[in-house]
Amino acid sequence: MNKKASISSKNWSANDYVEGILRGDRVVLGRAITLVESSRPEHRELAQQVLEKCLPHTGNSFRMGITGPPGVGKSSFIEAFGSLLVQGHGRKLAVLAIDPSSQVSGGSILGDKTRMEKLGVEPNAFIRPSPAGSSLGGVANCTHESMLLCEAAGFDTIFIETVGVGQSETAVAGMVDFFLLLLLPGAGDELQGIKRGIVEMADLLAVNKADGDRIELAKSARKDYALALHLFPEKPNGWQPKAVTCSAMTGDGLAEIWKLLSDYQEVVKGNGWFLENRKAQLGTWFASQLEQSVHRFFFESTEIKAELVESKAAVLAGKLTPAQAANSLIDLFKKSIESRH
Ligand code: GDP
Repeated sequence: MNKKASISSKNWSANDYVEGILRGDRVVLGRAITLVESSRPEHRELAQQVLEKCLPHTGNSFRMGITGPPGVGKSSFIEAFGSLLVQGHGRKLAVLAIDPSSQVSGGSILGDKTRMEKLGVEPNAFIRPSPAGSSLGGVANCTHESMLLCEAAGFDTIFIETVGVGQSETAVAGMVDFFLLLLLPGAGDELQGIKRGIVEMADLLAVNKADGDRIELAKSARKDYALALHLFPEKPNGWQPKAVTCSAMTGDGLAEIWKLLSDYQEVVKGNGWFLENRKAQLGTWFASQLEQSVHRFFFESTEIKAELVESKAAVLAGKLTPAQAANSLIDLFKKSIESRH
């Protein structure tokens, strides 16, 4: 990388990014993620070149989704558990977030508060606020690509945080190896806004804030969840989901969670599910990527842009059925492509 490039990334080539990433340079990694998040066509192209070159260096991490209702203690947990992994177990941790709601609030779950102060200064931790994206699909895609860049930079543990009440959990489940759901003591999951589907998705339920006068409440909540988990159908990964208590404040229960993560990896690596799941996730990601590209290709075409408003007006005026209007747009699109050749 030349001297000029090290100051400004404006004229960086794909190799400049890749060299920095493979060196584990966190500033370059941060800039590469910004590139991946950009929607400008020239940035998209460069980002894809960077990703392609990084691809052989990806995949060597444990990817964990962390979700739970607002206020349950996700960032406190990530701070405490992340510090344990980095300081106590020599892990290199990257924390990413999927937060489509940030478009509405204008803030982001990782960016708006001063969060994870201890972890933020750890040389072996990298924390990245959620990107502001136009759609969940777009945001999830950026997170997936950012995760690959973090792996290429040598991070062996990835946490992906979500708010735990919306559809973003399905997107996260589609890119992680393990799913942790944090819950509050003393409130049913419905009261916490957690959908049953999310509980079923989890590999581990942790009742957080099991400290002070909430210990007993947390213990009884844990028991209820453990019973409920046994009623769910068996998971294809061969792992029986567990329920535990923990406290991000005192650190109680965190070592047990780490132990469970190791047990889990032993099970799913032993029975082949780990790699199978990664392959299945790639297939799904490819399908959704293709859908997004087709969508973008269609709606960003000049011909379609010009005709869309009139087509809609014709439908609203009752002159065309929605199917007729859609078909005529498709015909127009086909013709515009043919005329380009
Ligand atoms: P998030 O919205 O899920 O990220 O939750 P935060 O990590 O911001 O925590 C919400 C509040 O709960 C903060 O005031 C934390 O200090 C507090 N908190 C988080 N974890 C614990 C815990 O284990 N015990 C107690 N007593 N408080 C906690």
